[in-house]
Amino acid sequence: MNDIAHNLAQVRDKISAAALRCGRASEDVALLAVSKTKPASAVAEAIDAGQRAFGENYVQEGVDKIRHFQEQGVTGLQWHFIGPLQSNKSRLVAEHFDWCHTVDRLRIASRLSDQRPAGMPPLNILIQINISDEESKSGIPLAELDALADQVAELPGVCLRGLMAIPAPVSNYERQFAVAQQMAVAFDALKLRYPTVDTLSLGMSDDMEAAIAAGSTLVRIGTAIFGARDYTKN
Ligand SMILES: *Cc1c(COP(=O)(O)O)cnc(C)c1O
Repeated sequence: MNDIAHNLAQVRDKISAAALRCGRASEDVALLAVSKTKPASAVAEAIDAGQRAFGENYVQEGVDKIRHFQEQGVTGLQWHFIGPLQSNKSRLVAEHFDWCHTVDRLRIASRLSDQRPAGMPPLNILIQINISDEESKSGIPLAELDALADQVAELPGVCLRGLMAIPAPVSNYERQFAVAQQMAVAFDALKLRYPTVDTLSLGMSDDMEAAIAAGSTLVRIGTAIFGARDYTKN
């Protein structure tokens, strides 16, 4: 087994263990392999090890990888855009990705909807919540969720699938769980209002257990699968 296959197996084991510990089925928690800054060859190793869902933060880099695997004839992959999205890049996301996790204003959602090609299924979107109330972070406060969700749900080119958050790092499990639980409460309420909502994108390497215990359905893991990122090359 190569490193990436080995790492993936370990991460999947950790997810299953965390799910079972809180009485959830391991299939209820999906793994998004965050491949930003990593070459297509690393993604190919993960694909060989059975991984299908990949997360990218930089639009052009993600589009290049999506095209690469299309040209190779690899089907069945799911590409998630998880980086901050500027309006001038929305078209590339709408035309190439399957999901966008970082919708935090109507203007971006409308552009994604308008720019989604007619032959593709609606773009799956998550509304990003600034759950730790950080001034520097993107995302909306929970108090604004219902209004934005109502508007987004009307757009024909996108499908509202749920919520995403990047909580401020805290090392204490209880505090991680408390924050994750706030997200889970909002997610459960949203699910009751919109039948398409089924995804809570929450949990990274350091807070995965707490996120899963609170109800996350999708954890985003990069370094533990692909190794440390080298930003000096970019
Ligand atoms: C980079 C990134 C991750 C993965 O982070 P790692 O520390 O490499 O596991 C998860 N979510 C988002 C939004 C990211 O930008």
